[in-house]
Amino acid sequence: MTGMVNVVREISPETEREELIDALALGHLRFHQIPEHYPAREKAAIRREALGRRTGARLEHMGHYSLDDERAAAQNCENMIGVTQVPVGVIGPLRLHGEHVRGDEDVYVPLATTEGALLASANRGCRALRDAGGATVRVDNVGMTRAPVFRTSGIVQTRELLRWIADNEEEIRRRAEAGSRFLRLLEIKPQAIGTTVFLRFRFDAGDAMGMNMATIACDRVIRELIEPETGVECVALSGNYCVDKKPAAINFIEGRGKRIFAEVVLDKHVLGKCLKTSARSLVEVQYRKNLLGSAMAGSMGFNAHYANMLAAFFLATGQDVAQVVEGSLGITCVELRGPESVVASIYMPDVPLAAIGGGTGLATQSEALAILGVEPDPERPGAAVMRLAEILGATVLAGELSLLAALTSRDLARAHERLGRGRR
Ligand code: ADP
Repeated sequence: MTGMVNVVREISPETEREELIDALALGHLRFHQIPEHYPAREKAAIRREALGRRTGARLEHMGHYSLDDERAAAQNCENMIGVTQVPVGVIGPLRLHGEHVRGDEDVYVPLATTEGALLASANRGCRALRDAGGATVRVDNVGMTRAPVFRTSGIVQTRELLRWIADNEEEIRRRAEAGSRFLRLLEIKPQAIGTTVFLRFRFDAGDAMGMNMATIACDRVIRELIEPETGVECVALSGNYCVDKKPAAINFIEGRGKRIFAEVVLDKHVLGKCLKTSARSLVEVQYRKNLLGSAMAGSMGFNAHYANMLAAFFLATGQDVAQVVEGSLGITCVELRGPESVVASIYMPDVPLAAIGGGTGLATQSEALAILGVEPDPERPGAAVMRLAEILGATVLAGELSLLAALTSRDLARAHERLGRGRR
């Protein structure tokens, strides 16, 4: 129509920002719909302001941070509004004899937690390990697993599928490893039931935890090879036979991620002076609590509190904290060696760990890894994460011994009262 003027509404950046906050606060816009041209910091601030208006919460602290928020918003956390601050402390020096940590190194371990008394207790365990000459630690690189689930027509097609997988393992390996020079396929373990088949793929992922890399590799193999060649359909890329982030007997028995062994011999002097206990008491509490108690409860964690050290270590170093669920599986052993000494050990069959990828590159998490001397070297992929696993093993042993000893001397409640909830 002639005479009509096309009016382009000119608005200032401040007005546009205000309108965005209003729209978010009123629910007319979703938190992920802030225009792309806003930097991550600005997007987070806008979301915070809208959220504050919508909920009435005062958000003063979440916006104080120094991490690279462009990277965090792109790789780690959608709809970012800021950070959660968790106190981080340090224990050590920790002494251990590993294959990637020398016995004369002083290792200091950052732990992030809100549980008062945890660091004090684990630190006492470090002293016990030092006084005893250090823990001995060894780690098996079991590998990261992913188990897609397939639907067949029945036994005959299931058998055909499994035969095809066995006959074509080399080609499957080639395709699986094509996407990354750090990924190696170690095994395909099949499991069939009814018209369902699981293929549990197990990978070495170098210094990465490997869950993304394994998932991408499985997807490629299924789409490019297994489905077109066999006509068998994949129902889900993860069939829960992996098993990721759930406690599971298969992980306990077969292992997943890293399998960690750590042990120490504690003599009468270390037991008495540092841990305020005796060989007899420690063996008894281990037997009645960790073994009988766990058996009677149907627990899969025959240990006092692996999850405590794991969660604090995982948070500090940028691991996937949901995998604490699996990491908490394991058995602590304490047995007499001579009349007044014990040999104490921890066994952790299922510890997914990363020195690269996931949350490890975030600012504070990579500082924590630097404290531990964990730095991936592309020429020696996997060495850095094995060092991390050895340090974790000794840390868990330290925390485990200290708590078990505290239980024998009825020190636990007193320590909590002094260092945690009781102190106001
Ligand atoms: P994940 O697969 O562990 O879930 P990411 O998706 O973050 O983790 O992937 C890790 C990334 O780091 C991959 O792209 C991989 O190619 C890369 N990478 C670089 N150096 C290494 C290394 N030394 N070991 C393993 N991966 C590495």
